[in-house]
Amino acid sequence: MDTTAVDEVVGLCRDLLRIDTTNTGDPRTTVGERVAAEYVAERLDEVGVETRLLESAPNRANLIARIPGADSSRGALLVHGHLDVVPADASEWSVPPFAGEEKDGYLWGRGAVDMKDFDAMALAVVREWKRTGYVPPRDIVLCYTADEEAGMEYGSQWLVRNHADAFEGVTEAIGEVGGYSYTVNDDLRLYLVQTAEKGLDWLRLHAHGRPGHGSFIHDDNAVTALAEAVAAVGRHRFPTVVTPTVRQFLEQVSEALHIDLNPDEPELAIAKLGPIANLIGATIRNTANPTRLEAGYKDNVIPGKASATIDCRTLPGQADSFLAELREIIGPDIEIEHVHQQSAVETSFDGDLVDAMGAALRAEDPGARTVPYLMSGGTDAKAFATLGIRCFGFAPLRLPPDLNFSALFHGIDERVPTEGLKFGVRVLDRLLRNS
Ligand SMILES: [Zn+2]
Repeated sequence: MDTTAVDEVVGLCRDLLRIDTTNTGDPRTTVGERVAAEYVAERLDEVGVETRLLESAPNRANLIARIPGADSSRGALLVHGHLDVVPADASEWSVPPFAGEEKDGYLWGRGAVDMKDFDAMALAVVREWKRTGYVPPRDIVLCYTADEEAGMEYGSQWLVRNHADAFEGVTEAIGEVGGYSYTVNDDLRLYLVQTAEKGLDWLRLHAHGRPGHGSFIHDDNAVTALAEAVAAVGRHRFPTVVTPTVRQFLEQVSEALHIDLNPDEPELAIAKLGPIANLIGATIRNTANPTRLEAGYKDNVIPGKASATIDCRTLPGQADSFLAELREIIGPDIEIEHVHQQSAVETSFDGDLVDAMGAALRAEDPGARTVPYLMSGGTDAKAFATLGIRCFGFAPLRLPPDLNFSALFHGIDERVPTEGLKFGVRVLDRLLRNS
């Protein structure tokens, strides 16, 4: 009998976990992505899938393959996953983070849920298709990226700027972060599907003043001006804004849980949500968190300038009004420099693909109910959305009810249930065959 996707997904995931693809943020010390991309290329080559390995810099490898569908005139579906992982400090872990150990029903390792699990699922599904001669209804573009964890400059952002041709005809995409279960009771599990992401704006504030001697009376101190601005931003609470995705989330969760969640009183509603509140607490307002300070070079010299970095996250459609509000908080004299900017994305929760997600989940879990959500962080979807692609976070996993899943992302002892991986393969296969 042929090996099936369910048979080999755990092994594929284990192999990927054993390749250390730590993304340090420094291109010189990030080397594993190339090895991982070559591993994926070999597994695809074995079953006759042609791949393109695209390097944005030495060892920063991205991989793309197109699986032709029965009707290539239809819009293609992009299935994407990043191969890099955030660093892991082995001394904090109960198992070596890059050993791919299997115990207690879990596969352990850095990247187990973020996101070598989905990387392995997509690989397993396509390998089974090729072995059995199955042709999907429309073109599937498989894309494995580098550098998702440190700004995407060597990965998805580079790909869409330099190899947009590889995504020609792609209308929709699935990737992280969504499709996993949140257990309400034995008969009901909510599967959160990501349909929107907040935007990211790293700003540097610069204050300028008159330099001088620390022993004099001085009324134009850059450090004082900057400190006032930073404190004002850090203490400011931006007003709540309910986007269409959050409104839909609250309405649907309210219906599913039979509790009253009024979208017009989002703070009150979220307070009633228990564990999910963590996930969406930051999705009802813009945020601005001071993260770095820089000023001065000697204890008795008043410097002429001082600067601070503010990590700002904006809701879809809020970037401009956010900036106006920020300007009001810091006053007219502080200079604002845009260090890094990625726009928010949002798509509606409807259409055939969304229906197929729900159907694929329900076929494997009769208690499944899909709910759209807005994520406060960012993923490769931000880059792909610039090509006009509708992006969804859907990397299906059925999770044990007591598992604190969100804590595993970038967390210590990251691990994925092996049964969850097999479940994910079955759901993904159904979805791709029926969309
Ligand atoms: Zn990720």
